[in-house]
Amino acid sequence: MNKPQILIVEDDAAVSNLIATTLELQNYQFRKAPNGAAAVMEALSYRPDVMLLDLGLPDADGVEIIRKIRSWSNMPIIVVSARSEDTDKVEALDAGADDYLTKPFSVDELLARLRVALRRVRCDSRKVTEESSVYANGELKIDYAAGCVFVGEKEVHLTPIEYKLLCLLAKNTGKVLTHNFIIREIWGSGYSASDTSSLWVFMATLRKKIEAEPAHPKYIKTHIGVGYRMMRQG
Ligand code: CA
Repeated sequence: MNKPQILIVEDDAAVSNLIATTLELQNYQFRKAPNGAAAVMEALSYRPDVMLLDLGLPDADGVEIIRKIRSWSNMPIIVVSARSEDTDKVEALDAGADDYLTKPFSVDELLARLRVALRRVRCDSRKVTEESSVYANGELKIDYAAGCVFVGEKEVHLTPIEYKLLCLLAKNTGKVLTHNFIIREIWGSGYSASDTSSLWVFMATLRKKIEAEPAHPKYIKTHIGVGYRMMRQG
């Protein structure tokens, strides 16, 4: 892979420069867009591998930008938002963002999220030729064809809902999935965020079956008030 190309969408010059300096040190290429109009234009012409998107832009709603880009591109979008924009963050993930960072963030955190996003780019481009019917992540294994789940050598018996839930998270490994998104995918569009309590119950029983320490899960991480994420192991 050539040098990864990152598009920094940020109207705060100080934050934008900090990100740019960090990327430069990592040997990443980047371009900056200070507003929504420039972001959409650069997304089309520069074709970045990953977009870092500030939600609070002077001329546009960050969520609208995500929707626009999602209509023609699958590029990973990492939302960068201030804590006061928490509800927007959930909306952004529902609109198709891959991940989020809350300001102020550390440079290490930024780079870790970028690596996850870039790994997804590479996986996506391989998908066509290597579509496999077995998912393996650490000790966890899903045989999609047989509908079986294993932890190490041991087969785990899941209920249909637990199985659907696990497959959904596994297929989106590294991505934060919102409560809303999960509920819609598992139970259908008639359900809403008010049903998070049943999701919580199924998540608890699923964790008991696949996690060595359900109280300190290593596979399925909770993002409080947002949703869940399957973590890539090792
Ligand atoms: Ca801003």
